[in-house]
Amino acid sequence: MLISGYEIDLERALRIIKRAGVRRVGVQVPDGLKRSAPEISRIIEETGAEVLVSGDPCYGACDIDLQLCSMVDLMVHIGHSEMCESLSDRIVYIEARMPDDVTDVAKRSIGFFTKSRVAVCTTIQHAHTIDSVIEIMRSHGIEAITGGPSPRTRHRGQVLGCCYAAARVGAEEALFIGTGRFHPLGLSMATGMRVIAADPLTGSVEEIDTHDFLRWRYGIIARASDAKSIGILISKKPGQRRCVTAKRLSSLGRSKGRSMLEVYIDRIEPERILDLGLDAVVSTACPRIALDDAPRYSVPVLTPPEFEIALGVRSEYIFDEILDACGEPDST
Ligand code: SF4
Repeated sequence: MLISGYEIDLERALRIIKRAGVRRVGVQVPDGLKRSAPEISRIIEETGAEVLVSGDPCYGACDIDLQLCSMVDLMVHIGHSEMCESLSDRIVYIEARMPDDVTDVAKRSIGFFTKSRVAVCTTIQHAHTIDSVIEIMRSHGIEAITGGPSPRTRHRGQVLGCCYAAARVGAEEALFIGTGRFHPLGLSMATGMRVIAADPLTGSVEEIDTHDFLRWRYGIIARASDAKSIGILISKKPGQRRCVTAKRLSSLGRSKGRSMLEVYIDRIEPERILDLGLDAVVSTACPRIALDDAPRYSVPVLTPPEFEIALGVRSEYIFDEILDACGEPDST
């Protein structure tokens, strides 16, 4: 069914709820779809089940409301594809597709490529279009290829802000279908490919330039390199928790004479970080916290590889990725 402009297969969730006689349903929707929560809730309630909606932000399948999950018989998680299989018996993942036609932007991207072999990838909202995009490119003489699924993604060609595994198919150029700049920028930074971003919503087709991003990040790394007290943020969210990485970075910081504090945290927000009184923090949680939200913070927020550069143990910039399905184990 069409909800807020997205095709959402809520019927599948309704079938499961009815078949299993579920009495209490938790609903989690991403922020972009939060306004649809009353409508979704009303539809589910028609099965006779009671509905509890998570009011907390939700950024991905990594971000399951575990507390709500423990209070209900079944969670309906909308907008993302399954990531943590260990949680799957309690959670039904219902993806949200954008119905926009990608044909025009895919065709207009053809002239941008200089190589005959091109990787094609997209986000979950457009993953159902990947085959038609590949077909369009092949009909124009381009050997379009895609990879995946991966431990963190369910669809061929699907990438996340933290995982570009599906794009690593041995090409030097890539076509990204989707909205926003973060994913195509991440794609280029993570793989080193020349990336053309085609946005079916705005109709824009453009080459991604990473120079400004790198200049900006090296400025933040330089600010953090003098920091004496440094926090290592470990996320409570199941698919963002990287305890092994956090411990390794803490040891590294101490070996370089820094005062280190490991901080276990759910919602990473500027006021909470400010209250800790640290000179800088390293986020081992979602890479977007350091890379997308940095202007909101009064202290430098680094990714793990950026921290290594700040300490002088890494010379080359690499993009932070989380490639495990469900974070990392709790201890080394
Ligand atoms: S950790 Fe990955 S999947 Fe989770 S919100 Fe960040 S980019 Fe998305």
